[in-house]
Amino acid sequence: MDTDLALSWVRSFAAAVAEHEERLTQLDSAIGDADHGANLRRGFSAVLAVLDERPPTSAPELLTVTGDTLVPGVGGAAGPLYGSAFRALGRALARPETGLATALAEALDAVRTLGAAAVGDKTMIDAFAPAVEAFARRSDAGDDLAAAASAAAEAAERGALATTPLQARRGRAAYLGPRSVGHQDPGAASTALLFRALADAATG
Ligand code: ADP
Ligand code: MG
Ligand code: MG
Repeated sequence: MDTDLALSWVRSFAAAVAEHEERLTQLDSAIGDADHGANLRRGFSAVLAVLDERPPTSAPELLTVTGDTLVPGVGGAAGPLYGSAFRALGRALARPETGLATALAEALDAVRTLGAAAVGDKTMIDAFAPAVEAFARRSDAGDDLAAAASAAAEAAERGALATTPLQARRGRAAYLGPRSVGHQDPGAASTALLFRALADAATG
C-alpha cells in the first residue's frame, strides 16, 4: 500500500463517518448510549487535522498516526478498538514484503485481543472477520486490490446486516440481553463503511 492509497482510505472513511454519523448514532441509541456516530466523527476530525498538519511520508506511518490519534481521541469502546486496528495495520505494513491481506488479518487480531469478542457476539468483529477472510480469499486467487477490497466490503456489509437477529455478548449492548435482538450493531455498521472506503480508495 502506498501513501496516497492509505491517505485516500482514511479520508474516504472519515467522509463516510461524517455522512453516516446520524445513522450510526441512531443504531447506538437502540442498543447502546447513542454516541457511536459522534465518537467516530470526532475521532476522524482529529485524524484529518493531524494528517494535514504533519503529512506522513509512508503508508505505515500514516496508519500508525491514525491509530495513535484515535486511541485517546475517541471516547468509549470504538476509539481503542479502531485505534488498535490502525496501529496494527501500520506495524504490519512497516515490515518489508508484508501485503495488505496479512496486515488486515493482524488488525483483526488486534481488535480480537483487545475486545475479546468472537464472530456471533454482535460486535464490529461480525463485519471485520468476514471482510478479512474475503479479502484474503480473493487476493490468494490472484485478484487485484480493487477486486479484493470490493469483495471485502460486500462481506462486511452482509456481516453487519447479519448482526440484527443476534443477541449481544460483548460491549454495552450485552447488558440488554435478549432486548439487543432485532437491532443492527453500530460498530459492525461502521466497519462495513471502513471496508467500503477501502474499496472506493482502491478503485480510485
Ligand atoms: P461505547 O459502547 O463505549 O459507547 P461506541 O458506541 O463508540 O462505544 O462503540 C460501540 C461499538 O463498539 C459496538 O457496536 C461494538 O461493535 C463495538 N464493541 C464494543 N465492545 C466490543 C468488544 N469487546 N469487542 C469488539 N467490539 C466491541
Ligand atoms: Mg456508544
Ligand atoms: Mg459511549
